[in-house]
Amino acid sequence: MLKVEKLDVYYGNIRALHEVSFEVNEGEIVTLIGANGAGKTTVLHTISGLVPARSGSVRFLDYDLIRLAPHKIVQLGLAQVPEGRRIFANLTVKENLEMGAYTRKDAKGIKDDYEQVFTRFPRLKERLNQMAGTLSGGEQQMLAIGRTLMSRPKLVLMDEPSMGLAPLLVSEIFDIIKEINAAGTTILLVEQNAQMALSIANRAYVLETGRVVLQGDAKTLADSEEVRKAYLGG
Ligand code: ATP
Repeated sequence: MLKVEKLDVYYGNIRALHEVSFEVNEGEIVTLIGANGAGKTTVLHTISGLVPARSGSVRFLDYDLIRLAPHKIVQLGLAQVPEGRRIFANLTVKENLEMGAYTRKDAKGIKDDYEQVFTRFPRLKERLNQMAGTLSGGEQQMLAIGRTLMSRPKLVLMDEPSMGLAPLLVSEIFDIIKEINAAGTTILLVEQNAQMALSIANRAYVLETGRVVLQGDAKTLADSEEVRKAYLGG
C-alpha cells in the first residue's frame, strides 16, 4: 500500500534521512521506533508532503506522492495524526471534527463518520461544544485521532500518540489504535514507547540517526537482545 524507497531528506546541509526504505501492506500496523532525533517524524512529514525529499520515492497505492501538495495526499486517503496533538485549541470539539472533513463533499458519508467517531469516543460526544484547548491531554489525543478519521483515510500515520499521557491512557489509546486497524484502516505508527508499539504492530523498523538499522516481525524484534538493550530498557 505504501512503499518508501531510498528516501534522502536534508534540513539545510544536515542530512536527516539516509536512504530510508520500508513498506506498509494493506491491513497492517507497522511501527517505526527509534530514539529522539532518529528521524521518525521526518519520515512521516516527508510522506505527508510537509517536508521535501532530496531524492528517493514514496508510492501510495498507484500514486507517486513526491511533490504532491499535502491536501492532495489527504484526498488520496492518507492522513496524519500529528505529534503533540495539534488540535485547534480555540475551536470547539465539533468544529475540530468538521475541519477533519474539509476535503470531502459527501454529506451522508461525513454524517456516518461523525457517528462512528462518537461511538468510538463517547467522551467527545459529551463535549461537542467545549473548546478543544480545555480538554484533558487524553481527550485532546482522542480528538486528534477522531479529526483524522473524519477524512476517511485508508492509511493513517500516527506520530507519538502516547506522548505525555499517563500509563492507563496510553493503554486506552493503543486499544483504540488496534480497533481502528481491525475496522479496516492501515496504520503506520511512530513511537518512542517501543514496547507498546511492538506489542500491537505486525512489523517494525528501527531507525537510528536517519537510517533503518533493523527490521522484522514485531514480536521477533521485541524478543531480540539488541532491541531489548537499546529500546526496551534491558
Ligand atoms: P523525536 O522522537 O525527538 O521527535 P524523531 O525521531 O522524530 O525525534 P526528527 O524530528 O525527525 O526525529 O528529527 C531528525 C533530525 O532532524 C534531528 O537531528 C532534528 O534535530 C533534525 N530536524 C528536524 N526538523 C528540523 C528542522 N525543521 N530544521 C532543522 N533540523 C531539523
